[in-house]
Amino acid sequence: MKFTRFTQGSSIYSGVIKDDSIREIEGDIFGDWQFTGKTFSSEEVNFLAPLEPNQIIGIGANYVTKVEDRPSELPEIPVFFFKPTSSVIGPEEEIVIPEGIEQVKFESELAIIIGKEAKNVPESEVLDYVFGYTVGNDVTAPQFFHQDGHWTVGKSFDTFTPLGPVIETELDPFSVSVEARLNGVEKQNSATDLMIIPIRRMVSYLTKVMTLKPGDVILTGSPVGAEFVGAGDLIECEIKEIGTLRNSFVNQKEHSKTY
Ligand code: MG
Repeated sequence: MKFTRFTQGSSIYSGVIKDDSIREIEGDIFGDWQFTGKTFSSEEVNFLAPLEPNQIIGIGANYVTKVEDRPSELPEIPVFFFKPTSSVIGPEEEIVIPEGIEQVKFESELAIIIGKEAKNVPESEVLDYVFGYTVGNDVTAPQFFHQDGHWTVGKSFDTFTPLGPVIETELDPFSVSVEARLNGVEKQNSATDLMIIPIRRMVSYLTKVMTLKPGDVILTGSPVGAEFVGAGDLIECEIKEIGTLRNSFVNQKEHSKTY
């Protein structure tokens, strides 16, 4: 099932999308919800990020180029970081390059959406706690990484976490490829078996540290091929089974909103 959030006029709706038809739902997608009976055509709505995350956790440097390059021993402490929920935007929204720099990096990623409270979950049970998956773009300004190793500022600007277009609940995360096209040219395309720390290990580890909650988003890392981009560039992050997350880049001073 593909869950979506969207606007029509000034109202925000949630729905389940199939082909070009969206059936409105009401309630909590992680709990009780029902169809309202109202339907929309996808052509007459504007899509939003498919959820308002509870929190967003990313993992750094998590892909190799080929399977043989995966390390035989996994790092004892994975490189996790948080991104603020205020950095989330939806499909087709503009990514704003902060004042003072010319370029930022795109990072196409498989994003896990947690559906149930999870604490001390063994690897074998991790998928029972996953609600679904979306596509994320972990936009990054390495110019703002702190020399002591802190990434927070460089990953936290408003608009730096596009998510969407939908949450797919029926995905096999082990059989998909994470892709990115820059101005129509393929830059990233890796199967998820090129992850260094695999999904079950990643989520299980996190639940030994912190309680994960419904609506938590885990960005699982970006394949080799992320590049610097500037104003006017168009990035399309795609996982075929979920959809395409398309955003363009603008400079802060050209952006219509005030940040
Ligand atoms: Mg990343």
